[in-house]
Amino acid sequence: MTDIKKQLLSVADSCVKCGICAPHCPTYTHTQNENESPRGRIALIQAWAGGNLPISENLLSHIDSCLLCRACEKACPAVVPYGKLIDDFRAEIHDDISTKNSVKIVKSIAENKGVQNFVKSSLRFYQKNNLQETARFLRLPKLFGLTELERLVPNFQEHETLKNYYDAKNEAKGDVGLFVGCMGELFDFETVNSAIKVLTHIGFNVYLPENQTCCGALALHDGDKKGASKLEKQNELAFSAENLQAIVTIASGCGVTLREYSAKNFTTKVLDISHFLSQTDFDFSILKPFSGNVRLHSPCSLKNGLKTDKSVLKLLQQIPEINISALPETTQCCGAAGSYSLRHDEMAKTLLNELLTTTLEKPTDYLVSSNIGCALHIAAGLRERGENVEVIHPIVVLARSLI
Ligand code: SF4
Ligand code: SF4
Repeated sequence: MTDIKKQLLSVADSCVKCGICAPHCPTYTHTQNENESPRGRIALIQAWAGGNLPISENLLSHIDSCLLCRACEKACPAVVPYGKLIDDFRAEIHDDISTKNSVKIVKSIAENKGVQNFVKSSLRFYQKNNLQETARFLRLPKLFGLTELERLVPNFQEHETLKNYYDAKNEAKGDVGLFVGCMGELFDFETVNSAIKVLTHIGFNVYLPENQTCCGALALHDGDKKGASKLEKQNELAFSAENLQAIVTIASGCGVTLREYSAKNFTTKVLDISHFLSQTDFDFSILKPFSGNVRLHSPCSLKNGLKTDKSVLKLLQQIPEINISALPETTQCCGAAGSYSLRHDEMAKTLLNELLTTTLEKPTDYLVSSNIGCALHIAAGLRERGENVEVIHPIVVLARSLI
């Protein structure tokens, strides 16, 4: 037996098969199939690593259908490191899985600045000339297997080029690095801009190292450990140049991946922006009221990975006159889950519809989410329902409230 099989087996053996995780699992909830539950998936890996089950289409499909939302991990009394087990297994069988075209495209955008620039100019041209409608009319996205990717694309926001450094506006309290993520500048510039605005306003010098790159989550969860490790090294190097007191993230999906890098001097500095702000002496009296009904969505990466979802509500509740309510604790994954919605559109849409129905039970003007992947997926669902709800990051709410 290989060392990696021994490791996988030892982790899988730590599961006592109690089933406490099952009701927390979105795929099990919807299929009632044991193989689509955390316990079932662990048993499959256990059987494979023990030499009792060969690799098959069936086995791969049950592992691939896991959202990696880690709701099971949070509920597990035996503290089975489920996310790591699945990532390690996917890495081991990487050569046996085929990656969809749309996922390959997203990965190449995420990991390559040149491709990002090309996408930026193409997107601007595509949307300015109303080619989106024409392409949809001609069913081009469907023809190229890109329907799920195309529906996520928001309107391109024109913006200035980002600088590598922004001075604190008030007396400097320290230096922080801002991890922009691979999609932030391209698809959600207001969030990036708001983070810079708020951080500099409360007295932080903000560094945006030029060589920062994708966090590696897409590669890691796709079983491409080598690719993920290359990105990890690049980010560690990019943020090592300055004496930063924190590396602030504006996408919880990236945050949880960065927190799990191997270099402790890097990981201990990584904080989600809402959590970071909740630890500063932010003067909330400078904020003006925020009007409208706000619903707060807690991404799985924030709730089950970083476990700092409560900080967001506490922070936003400090804004004068804000009418905010969090989605119920029992709300499951929205179905975005990295590249999941591109690979499993049916399950992703089922989960999204459930989340939208819960959200819209109350009047909603804004849906606030800390993760760009969830935000794009949810915004697409709201557009398709014809709902006039703006999906924004918590830091945008704060920035809009700054006087
Ligand atoms: S809760 Fe933990 S120990 Fe129990 S079945 Fe699930 S993964 Fe295994
Ligand atoms: S990570 Fe999420 S989808 Fe996967 S087994 Fe755990 S609860 Fe289910």
